[in-house]
Amino acid sequence: VESLFAEQDFLEKNSGNNFADIILPVPIPRMFTYQIPPLLKPQIQIGQRVIVQFGKKKVLTGIVGKVHNKPPQAYEAKPILDILDDQPSVNPLQIRFWVWMAAYYFCHIGEVMFAALPSGLRLSSESKIQLNPNFDTETSKYPLDVREEKILEALEHKPELSYEDCEKILGVKTIHPILKSLVAKEAILIFEKVQEKYTPKVETRIRLTKEISESKSALEAVFEGVAGKPKQESILLKFLRDVPVFQKPKLNEKGVDKATLLEEGDSESSLKTLIKNGVFESFKHVVNRIDDEKAVREAYELSSSQATAFEEIKTHFESKQSVLLHGVTGSGKTEIYIKLIQEVMESGSQVLLLLPEIALTTQIVSRLKKVFGSQMGVYHSKYSDNERVEVWNGVLSGRFSFVVGVRSSIFLPFDSLGLLIVDEEHEPSYKQFDPAPRFHARDAATMLAYFHQARTLLGSATPSFESYFNATQGKYGYVEINHRFGDARMPEYHLADLSADRKKNLLKLDSTRMMREKIQAALDKQQQVLIFQNRRGYSPYIQCEDCGWTGQCVQCDVSLTYHQFAEEMRCHYCGYKEKVPQSCPACGSTQLTTMGMGTERIEECLSLLFPEARMGRMDLDTTRNKYGYQRLLDEFGAGQIDILVGTQMITKGLDFGKVTVVGIWDGDRILNFPDFRAGERAYQQITQVAGRAGRRDIKGQVVIQSRNPDNELFEKVIRGEYYEFFRQEMFDRKKFYYPPYVKLVKITTRHADFKVAEKAAHALHREMATIQAKKIVLGPEKGIIARIKNQYQYESMIKLDRGGNTLAIFKENLAKILEELQSRPEFRSVRWVVDVDPS
Ligand code: ADP
Ligand code: ZN
Ligand code: ZN
Repeated sequence: VESLFAEQDFLEKNSGNNFADIILPVPIPRMFTYQIPPLLKPQIQIGQRVIVQFGKKKVLTGIVGKVHNKPPQAYEAKPILDILDDQPSVNPLQIRFWVWMAAYYFCHIGEVMFAALPSGLRLSSESKIQLNPNFDTETSKYPLDVREEKILEALEHKPELSYEDCEKILGVKTIHPILKSLVAKEAILIFEKVQEKYTPKVETRIRLTKEISESKSALEAVFEGVAGKPKQESILLKFLRDVPVFQKPKLNEKGVDKATLLEEGDSESSLKTLIKNGVFESFKHVVNRIDDEKAVREAYELSSSQATAFEEIKTHFESKQSVLLHGVTGSGKTEIYIKLIQEVMESGSQVLLLLPEIALTTQIVSRLKKVFGSQMGVYHSKYSDNERVEVWNGVLSGRFSFVVGVRSSIFLPFDSLGLLIVDEEHEPSYKQFDPAPRFHARDAATMLAYFHQARTLLGSATPSFESYFNATQGKYGYVEINHRFGDARMPEYHLADLSADRKKNLLKLDSTRMMREKIQAALDKQQQVLIFQNRRGYSPYIQCEDCGWTGQCVQCDVSLTYHQFAEEMRCHYCGYKEKVPQSCPACGSTQLTTMGMGTERIEECLSLLFPEARMGRMDLDTTRNKYGYQRLLDEFGAGQIDILVGTQMITKGLDFGKVTVVGIWDGDRILNFPDFRAGERAYQQITQVAGRAGRRDIKGQVVIQSRNPDNELFEKVIRGEYYEFFRQEMFDRKKFYYPPYVKLVKITTRHADFKVAEKAAHALHREMATIQAKKIVLGPEKGIIARIKNQYQYESMIKLDRGGNTLAIFKENLAKILEELQSRPEFRSVRWVVDVDPS
């Protein structure tokens, strides 16, 4: 990293510098050199956003990565068109981080920039038309038709029109020929309008003029003047009710929102009169989209074991950059985070707390908000472009010194991080699959901390084996809490043996008795129940009972998933969907049945078994909408739902005191993770979901249904023997060369023609054999799903020795190999996707 970076001297002054290297959001492996026009020289700074021409037509927003005096060799540098920022939007540490990320995760810096910068900070460009100033209808030699005249007429009222405007004016969709004709007749000009995407939210506010607000007698005179004019009087009275100017003169400066002032039906024209008469004035005010909530509570007093853990963490931080906090579910890790965050903020540094998916962790976010109020920013995956820009700018301006966010929040413009916390650090969703950069937010956060000379705290009840390994090696500090906060006890497990039953429908089995009894017992005591259904490999599908037909995606080699609510079959890989057919397309039979048991089916079955219980379901279907998840949680929290059925979503950090029973519907499914992490993931998932039970005074009950209850993994989970389980698994990983003993790189070769894909994958293997690095190359094999979106997939897995710079050498050579392969005409349209540390 350092060597990559050494040449970049950010403190260089620009006087003698005529060129700038610009980072552009395109997948090309380098920065682009542009010329700095003399006028822009004095103000150009690294990290500013600039506008440049890219290719013939495109105008792009770029970031100044470097300024220097070396003209490019291969092309003539074009000038920078404009600088967008007074102050840089991106700081040098961030650019350094981008450079590292591109190098480590084998992608281009432009791709990192594209992921990092909220799209609201990039420009949008749109084609618009305007009147040609040289055009005169009277003297023009070209006759205009009716529609052309209509457009010209509109241009007299509005100097610029977008294509969309024109479509609306004429009520037609094909606007191009008409505009082309107008250009040919020299009547209009077409130009690219480039503008900031971000639009501040502006309010019109009303306040008393200075004279009136500073003198009681002036105000009295105003009242005398409006006597007999009830509409004006009403506005004045309402204003003074909201803004008692003489008690609180400061309030008048802020004024009130005009819309609020008029919301009770007061007349706008009367307000106008008052403004005209010098009583009120109106002004524009930029409002935050993101609320400034006040802090409402102090941090809790730590319990003695929390306090011990807190001190241990700080002691480790004296000598180690990273600490793993291994605290069982409900041990009160969040409260420890709060204390640490407060300390770091008091010392003047920034803090970032990463959560796997904000939408799934609203509970912890609102807990933190209560303590940190408006100092805390939230970076949400469901935020709009404008909201993201406000969080970004809030970090830049210092409004937010603490941010809670999803994985992309590591890209925010922090300049002095003191602490990064990765909560639920074992969560697979920290890894980004597509598009590049395919980064792991936990690992990237550790690197970011290194750049800031900050500390990283990784928290989990079920640490990833990577992190735990680092702890056992002494690379990370290790702090453990092995009991719950307060009087809460760890839950009790029950294995429900399904092996005797051969029927498919779990609900008809006698062996579901245990589950039913526990649920009933909880309902009788007005307690709540969570039923967990593992999503993986468990989607319901439609099958023909006569010929075995199942619906297949037309673009991917996968079965379509049945969505009961919409009566549709959908592909979870590409989004393709079709209606459920009336009869089997293969044999015509009408005997189509639903196979598999999704959350929808479970919900339906349980409501038959417990007709009096109020049911809720939380899965991708019911939470698609921005507030869907929150609403379900609120209802559950308010006790309006007795049984909540859900997928992975219900496992994440939920803290509800009345949940006493957790049912794991088909425990065996959890064991079938298709790779070397199967055991680790299963252990984590069961422990996490079980951890939702009995978090207060009543002991929780966890029922796991399984056809192989003797599986050792269940035993380890139930006894909480994490360390023993870890040791066993590590033994295998060492023997069979898996992380953390080796580094993995996965390369996927994709092409629409499977012969080309296969040939390209083999060519890649022949070339990789020549790389002088300690490695094992596996494959190429057909992808687990052989075809996705009409692209055939071949996968290669490379295991690299961890020592020295094996990974770096491998990547360096791989880049050359891929470049060479891509230059062969036969492979021109092949795509290679490289994933470093795949998961
Ligand atoms: P974890 O994140 O480790 O699963 P939480 O931080 O959610 O645990 O804590 C579990 C419960 O105990 C929460 O309801 C929390 O409010 C409560 N709690 C934890 N620590 C304290 C404390 N020091 N004082 C009061 N309540 C606490
Ligand atoms: Zn059939
Ligand atoms: Zn598909």
